[in-house]
Amino acid sequence: MVSRVIPAQPFDLVIFGGTGDLARRKILPALFRRYCAGQMDRDARIIGAARGDMDDAAYRDFARAAIDEFDDDAVCAAEHLETFLSQLSYVTLDARGDDGWAALKDRLDGSERIRAFYFSVGPALFGDLATRIEAHGLATPEARIVVEKPFGRDLASARALNAELAKHFKETQIYRIDHYLGKETVQNLMAIRFGNTLFEPLWNSQYVDHIQITVAESGGVGTRGGYYDKSGAMRDMMQNHIMQLLCLTTMEPPAKYDPHAVRDEKLKVIRALSPVEPGDVVRGQYEGTDRLPGYRNEVENCDTLTESFVAIKARICNWRWAGTPFYLRTGKRLRARASEIAIVFKDAPHSIFGAAAGRHRNILTIRLQPNEGIEMGVTIKEPGPGGMRLVDVPLDMTFSEALGPEAADIPDAYERLIMDVIRGDQTLFMRGDEVEAAWEWTDPIIDAWEASGAAPLRYATGSSGPDDALALMHRDGRSWREIRP
Ligand code: NAD
Repeated sequence: MVSRVIPAQPFDLVIFGGTGDLARRKILPALFRRYCAGQMDRDARIIGAARGDMDDAAYRDFARAAIDEFDDDAVCAAEHLETFLSQLSYVTLDARGDDGWAALKDRLDGSERIRAFYFSVGPALFGDLATRIEAHGLATPEARIVVEKPFGRDLASARALNAELAKHFKETQIYRIDHYLGKETVQNLMAIRFGNTLFEPLWNSQYVDHIQITVAESGGVGTRGGYYDKSGAMRDMMQNHIMQLLCLTTMEPPAKYDPHAVRDEKLKVIRALSPVEPGDVVRGQYEGTDRLPGYRNEVENCDTLTESFVAIKARICNWRWAGTPFYLRTGKRLRARASEIAIVFKDAPHSIFGAAAGRHRNILTIRLQPNEGIEMGVTIKEPGPGGMRLVDVPLDMTFSEALGPEAADIPDAYERLIMDVIRGDQTLFMRGDEVEAAWEWTDPIIDAWEASGAAPLRYATGSSGPDDALALMHRDGRSWREIRP
C-alpha cells in the first residue's frame, strides 16, 4: 500500500524555545521526517528562536544532533539531511523583552506566506510571545500560533490564558496541541465508529457494559520531576489526553469531519460529565524499589502530596450513555507502558450453551501504544470434538499486518499535527471552550484533594496502582484489564 503525501504550501515556522527539550526530541525530528517524505516544501524556512546565543551554523549542528539521536526509524536518508538543515536558521530573542525581534522580522522579510509560531516554551511566556508577535507586526492574516500543554493549571488560569491569546489572535489562528489527538489510532477511532455501520448501532448504554481507558507508563518522572510535582497525573494526563480519548470514544456522530463539527460534539460530552463523587476517585504515589527511587525521592520533595496515579469512575449524563460507567486511569511506574481504550460489551442476553460454556463478552480494544492497532474479541467454538466449548479469540487488526509493511511506519503525532497547522486544519486541536470545560470538570476533584490535605495512597513500582483503584471496579462486579505490553 503506497501512502499519498500531499506537499504542503511554502511556509515559515518559527520555533520559540527552539533549543529546548521538546524541539530537540520531537519538533525537529518530526519536521525532518516530513521533509524526507516530500511533504515539506524545499522553500520552507524553519527559524529557531530562543534566549541562548547561537548562530545559524550552531543551530544546524544542534538540529543535526537532535535528529541523530531521536530519529531512529531510519526512513530518512542521510542524503536529505544537509539540504533540510540548510533551511534552518536561528535568532537569539527574548520573549520578555524586545531584544531580537527586529532580527526575526528581517528573517520573515514581510513574506505573505503561511507563518506558524510554535510556542515551545513554558506557559508563563505564552502571553508575552503573543503580545510581541503582534506588537512587532508579525501577526499577518496567515499567521497561526501553536500552543503546547499545559494550557492553564485550573479553570481560572485557562480562562485568563484564552483571554490573553484572544487579544492578539482569532480562535481560528490558535492551535492548542494535545499530541494524543495526532496519534494514528485515535483518528482511527473516528474512522472505525463513523466509517462503518457495524459498530454505531451498538455504541450505547444498551449494548456497552462499560468502557475502560488506561494510559499506563512504566517509567517514573525521571528528569521532569520539578515540572511534574507541580502538576500531577490529574493535570498532566487526565484533564487533557484521557479527556480527549473519552470524548472521541463517546461523542455523537458529527455532521462532517471538520473542526467545528467535531469539536462541538466533543464539547457536548465534556459538558455532560457528572461531577465525580469522592468515592469514585483514587489517587496514588509510587514507592521505590532496591534500585529505583520512590516518587518523593525522585521529585526531591519528601512532603509532596502530588499524585503519580489517578483512577476515576466517570459518568456521562445523556441519552446514549445514561447508566454506563467509564473507568479511567493513568499512572507512572506501572506494570508496563501500555495505553488502550476498551469497549466492553454486555453479555449475550441468554446463553443457549448453558452455564458450562462460561461467561463470554465482546471487547473492542483500541491500542494506542505499543503496537498501535485495533482488536475485536469474539467468541467462537473451540475447534475439535467434545461438545460445544466456547473460546474468545481476537480479530487482530494490527495496522502493519493489515495494511502492509509501509503502514508499520506510523508517523509520529507531532508530524501529523505540525502539518495540520500548516494546512490550517484545526480538527485535531483543542478549542478554547473545550479546554475550559475540561478544567471545570477536574477543578472540583483537585480542590477537594487540596482541601482534605490527604496523602495519595502508596503503590508498588511495577504494580497496577493502589489496591483501591482495583476495588473501584471490583465493587461494581467488574475488573480492569491487565496492563501488559
Ligand atoms: P525547555 O526548558 O527544555 O526549553 C525551553 C526553551 O525556551 C529553551 O529553548 C529556552 O531558551 C527558551 N526560553 C526560555 N525563556 C525564554 C525567553 N525569555 N525568551 C525566549 N526563549 C526562552 O522546555 P521544553 O521541555 O522544551 O518544553 C517547552 C514547552 O513544551 C513547555 O510548555 C512544556 O510544558 C511543553 N511540553 C514539553 C514536553 C517535553 O517532552 N519536553 C512535552 C509536552 C509539552
